[in-house]
Amino acid sequence: MEKDENLEEFRRWLKERNPGEEEFLQAVDDLATDVFSLYTQNQDWYDACVLLHLCEADRIISFRVCWEDDNGAVHVNRGWRVQYCGAIGPYKGGIRFHPTVNESILKFLAFEQTFKNALTGLPIGGGKGGADFDPRGRSDREIMRFCQAFMDELYRHIGENTDVPAGDINVGRREIGYLFGQYRRLANTFSGALTGKDIEFGGSHVRMEATGYGLVYFLRCMLAQRNQELGGQVVAVSGAGNVALHAAQKAVQLGAKVVSLSSSRGALYYRDGIPRELIEKALDHRAGSTELLTGMADACGGEWHKGSTPWSFPCDIALPCATQNELDGNDARALIENGVKMVAEGANMPCTAGAIEAFQKARIPHAPGKASNAGGVALSGLEMAQNASFTRWEQERLNEQLVEIMQDIHRQCIAEEQGEKDYINYHRGANLAAFRRVASAVYAQGVG
Ligand code: GLU
Repeated sequence: MEKDENLEEFRRWLKERNPGEEEFLQAVDDLATDVFSLYTQNQDWYDACVLLHLCEADRIISFRVCWEDDNGAVHVNRGWRVQYCGAIGPYKGGIRFHPTVNESILKFLAFEQTFKNALTGLPIGGGKGGADFDPRGRSDREIMRFCQAFMDELYRHIGENTDVPAGDINVGRREIGYLFGQYRRLANTFSGALTGKDIEFGGSHVRMEATGYGLVYFLRCMLAQRNQELGGQVVAVSGAGNVALHAAQKAVQLGAKVVSLSSSRGALYYRDGIPRELIEKALDHRAGSTELLTGMADACGGEWHKGSTPWSFPCDIALPCATQNELDGNDARALIENGVKMVAEGANMPCTAGAIEAFQKARIPHAPGKASNAGGVALSGLEMAQNASFTRWEQERLNEQLVEIMQDIHRQCIAEEQGEKDYINYHRGANLAAFRRVASAVYAQGVG
């Protein structure tokens, strides 16, 4: 039997080939389950083994990152860049610094990124990178030296037409500045080889806000589909980083009540809705997220639930914006019991397979990150376009483009999804639309 003749065979093959890479297997399985019959029914794609092709990265670069801390002690970390699929455009995706980073996590992120980027409609391929570095408690200079050491190897693999990294967890404007500076010095060129840059050296308006704002714009489309509005909805947000805070800010601006934010150590809950000024103040903050959230709880009279997630709080809408697999089947059931009506992912793969199954069974619309969090990378694509044409576009224009891109992704999901009446399976819609684009590009460029 051929390894892609039926889904079970395919799963067995994939597992044998990627032993122990749980996150990668989860991400591939999620997509393959939805697209398998489309794939096997397309004789051209099937004969060219397009699905099998997409289960292997174009290349994975792994390297040593050696740096010195403020006390002169030397540390050795491991860095990676996964250049997953370049069929649609230059590899594009963020860099994550976190002690849990490993090859499986970066492979899953790069795989997801490939399909997410396809949904934006922009010419960007999929990649991801990172290091098992823990920036917590590190001084500004230590962060700078780490970024420079990371770029000492990475610079030879990237470029505006080759691979364009950006930020992700623990890599924000400051880190992109240090990475870009080192790239510019080593490559002796000023180009848009990274996105998420400061506005003064080639960055774009709206880039920082784009993932969180885009998520809320997508959510607005989901609500409109059901003739509902965001105003007055009770929204539970997890996380306290760039995505979570900008999502919370936009949701509050549009009249929703955001009742939670969280860190890995606990959740802030405020029944009356976290005040907009506090969310905005938090956006300027650089301290660890737990300290930030407990401070916010004190300031608004909210509760700090140590060791909890937001998923036990009553809400209409859940926006998981922290990290992969942060919301499991039990959390999903608790949310459903507490009346959740809609879920949209701000993080990459925050819901486990069990959680997705529970939402689908309860017919709760659930948007996968590859659709609902694509706003960040879409704005990165627009930053690349501005860099390539030596221009800078106005904030208003970029915000409008972001709204349009999110609406278009929503339309693509619906167009693909011919499921049951009254219930849109966004998951399947996004997977089918994204796979169709990537598979066509891979096939058209020949087997090789
Ligand atoms: N890290 C973001 C994501 O997961 C943005 C990537 C980018 O802008 O390249 O989509």
